[in-house]
Order: sequence, then C-alpha cells, then structure tokens
Amino acid sequence: MSTVYLIGAGPGDPGLLTVRAKQLIETCDVVVYDYLANKEFLEYARPDAEIIYVGKKGGDHTLPQDKINELIVEKARSGRSVARLKGGDPFVFGRGGEEAEELVEAGVDFEVVPGITAGVAAPAYAGIPVTHRDHTTSVCFITGHEDPTKEQSGHNWDVYAQSTSTLVFYMGVKNLPMIAEKLIKGGRDPKTPVSLVRWGTRAEQQSFVSTLDSVAAEAERRRFAAPSIIVVGGVCSLHDKLAWFEKRSLLGKGVVVTRAREQASGLVRTLADHGAHVYEFPTIRIQPLDSYEVVENAILRLPMQDWVIFTSVNGVRHFWNQLREIGLDARVFGGLQVAAIGPATADALRERGINPDFVPEKYVAEHVVSGLLERGIAGKKVLIPRAKVAREVLPEELVKAGAEVQVLPVYETMLSQADDAEILQAMDQDKLDYVTFTSSSTVDNFFTLVDADRLREYKAAHPDKAKLACIGPITAQTLQKHGFDADLQPEDYTIPALVNALLGE
Ligand code: SAH
Repeated sequence: MSTVYLIGAGPGDPGLLTVRAKQLIETCDVVVYDYLANKEFLEYARPDAEIIYVGKKGGDHTLPQDKINELIVEKARSGRSVARLKGGDPFVFGRGGEEAEELVEAGVDFEVVPGITAGVAAPAYAGIPVTHRDHTTSVCFITGHEDPTKEQSGHNWDVYAQSTSTLVFYMGVKNLPMIAEKLIKGGRDPKTPVSLVRWGTRAEQQSFVSTLDSVAAEAERRRFAAPSIIVVGGVCSLHDKLAWFEKRSLLGKGVVVTRAREQASGLVRTLADHGAHVYEFPTIRIQPLDSYEVVENAILRLPMQDWVIFTSVNGVRHFWNQLREIGLDARVFGGLQVAAIGPATADALRERGINPDFVPEKYVAEHVVSGLLERGIAGKKVLIPRAKVAREVLPEELVKAGAEVQVLPVYETMLSQADDAEILQAMDQDKLDYVTFTSSSTVDNFFTLVDADRLREYKAAHPDKAKLACIGPITAQTLQKHGFDADLQPEDYTIPALVNALLGE
C-alpha cells in the first residue's frame, strides 16, 4: 500500500508552488489534478507517470467527487504513490477534508501539503493585505456558493455584516448581488470598500475596487466571472497604493517564443517575470548529428589550429559533448585563441573553463570579421564549430581576409513539428500581442507552420497587436522575404536587448 499526497498547487502563478509539492509531483507514480491547478506543473511529473484530469469547472464535473475518491483509493491500493493536486490549499474549500476522511476509511495512508490559498494570494497580488493594523484584526474566509443540496444555510449573514473582519469570499461572483445585499441589510456600511480579483497571480489577473452598494453593478459592467476572489473591508482601500503585480509592463500580453525548446527557457522565464502570457512555439529543433567521426578527428587535430570561433551556445554544447565522449577536456584549447560570437556563447565557454580571447561588440558576422582582423587572424588556421546549415558570411569573409577556415558542423537544426492550434486560438481571441524571432530559421519555420495570410489579416484588424520583434537586421531581412516588416528591433543583437525592446513599448 502506498501514500496519497493531498497537495495544494497554489493560486496559479507557477512560482507559488511549494518545494515539497514539486518534489512529490516529480516522484509520484500517479498525478490526479483539478481544473484550477496550473497545468505547467504536470511537466514536473515523471515521463512514465499516469496523469489523470478530474477537474471541475462550475457545475460541470468531469468526475463526481465520490468517483474521484474511489479512483484515488484504487490507485493507492494498487501500490502506487498518488499526488492529488488541488488549486490553492487542499483544506480551504477544496474538499480535501472529505478526501482525507475517505482515505482514512479505506485504510490508505495520506499526507497533506498545504498550498497558498487564493483568498490570501489573489488579494496580495492586487495590493491588498488581508489584515492590516489600521483596518482590521481578523479575516474570515467564506464560501459564496453553498452546497445547493444543503437544507439549512450555514451562513449567519448578520454576524458577517457586524464583524470587523476582512471578509474573503470564494466562489462568490454569481451570488455577488445577494452577498452585497445581505451584508448591507445586516448593517455593514454601504460605502465599505470591496475588491474583486479575477485570475489572481496569473498573467490574466484583473482587479478593481468599488463599494458594497455598487460592486455588483460594477462587476457586471466589467463582465467579471469566476474564478474571482471578493474582498470586503477597509484593507481594499490600499489597492491603488500597493498594487504592484498589475504594474508589470507585459502583464497579460500574449508573446510567442519561436526559439528551440532547448534554448528558450531563459527568454520564457524573463517574459513571464514581466507578466507576459508566453506561448511556447518552438519552430526549430536542435538535433545531434548522425555521426561524430569528423568532429572527433577535428578535436584530435585541434593543436594544429590557431583560432576556434564558437557562434552559438548550441555549438559550444555539442562540441563539448564530443570532447567528453573521447575523454578530453578544456585543456585541448591550451595554445589556441578562442572567440565567442555573443555574450551567451561567451558565458557557455566560461562555464566550461574557457575565458574567450575575443567577444565582438556587435553580433553579426560582418562586425566579427573586422574585430578578428585587428587581432591578426589573417593567415591563421581557424576552426568554426556550428550548425550544419548556417550563414556563410563569417567563413567567407575570413577566407577573403586570408585565413584558412574549416567549418565543422556539430549539430543540426530541423523544422520542429510544433502545433499551431494555440497560436491560431490566440489570434481568434485577440490575445496575440508579440511574436519574437531570434534567428532567420525561426522566421522561415514560423511561416512554414503558421499561415502568413492569417497573421496579415490579424495585424490589419489590430494595428497595435501581433508586433513582430526581430533580434537583429539579418532576422528582419528574412522577415521581409515573407512580406512583413519588423515592428521591433533592438540596438544590440541579444536576447536581453530584445526583451528590453518589448518592455520599452
Ligand atoms: N482550494 C482553493 C479554493 C477552491 S474554491 C484555494 O485554497 O484557493 C474555488 C474558488 O477559489 C474560485 O471560485 C475562486 O473564488 C477562488 N480562486 C481560486 N483560484 C483563484 C485565482 N487564481 N484568482 C481568484 N480566485 C481564485
């Protein structure tokens, strides 16, 4: 018999998962999850884990609660560990208590991993502390949607109304007119500040402050729906002063990242940190070569070269894989000069113990050549480990300058079979704000996968949306071949500069 873990997955921001929760998702045999738990967490699961969706959205239950309980018990009895993920905290309006009781009755061991509950986190992300010495000494969590089968209400509206507590309602948007009315009737000041926070802590977060007597109309006007938290009390007056999350420059903006998945994580994280809703759409796939015989020979003959020029992080990575494979290390670069085209490539070298002798100030081949010439590369033997298919400008210019160049493919880039469904849906819902291109092949492949006419149509309908951001002039030229101008292009041809260009909008 194994253990069932009742795990709180937090309110939505993937950073708000506990360390313990992450460890368990990574190790359990079965992951059972709900509608509100962020799906990104499923990526932590073992590739062979069984993943089961039992979510519910409003009244639309995928699996009734008793069936969920049965399922969990059955999995545990078969000897498999179960991570039962729930939105927020499992014991705060999450029916975690009921599931735990069932487990006890079935004789199944369980543990609870508390999570960050939406009733605290959503207000916090909207600049509302649920307690504050100037406003309240207590806070009360209330369901805004009682079990409809219950005969007698468990609410005592007069007590809520007359208490000085901050009132936090879950599942209450539909009943907001009733909630406001009962509180006013019970004696709460109609001018009490009330705030609604929808999709708290996520890129889609929206919030506003109103007063008890007009909040229902305001919520209707703004078309607020579930999932929202309703906060009633003086603390809501701090919203405008303390709101920090909604100030993020890219909050709620849909940004497409077209880089290969292997390379995209840094860019994805930075954009998400600025509030963007990131669509990962890897247009290229980085792939090892079928045979590394040529690379191996080149490594063994390395002492005969004068310079090695790395043009990408992938080049460094795949070159090193081979170096390790044959039992060598950074010492093979002993007498050589090493250049890195771009700061990320330079960092990849430094991580491997090589401090590059030359990193150009601008990161296109033409500028690199002039820098290398100044360092006396003419007449020297140069090795360039890189992708199988790449621009020929750098080797050609170096040859013209009198260098003896050997181009050494160490990996291949292939068209990735990314599914364009999410991108098309984002356009249908007017949610596509930026597309980022970090190389010419991401542009070419993007238009192999996504219909250019659909994008053109979308751009025409939304002049301030679907802005195309290119890392540099070469990428922008490729974009022009497909009939589009780059809307954004940073001064510096780097990923951080590209992000800054988006932020500066
Ligand atoms: N166990 C969960 C609550 C489940 S009840 C927790 O501790 O947070 C579901 C209700 O939670 C929703 O109707 C909504 O009121 C609230 N909720 C959950 N996630 C939310 C979010 N990201 N933003 C606003 N409200 C949220």
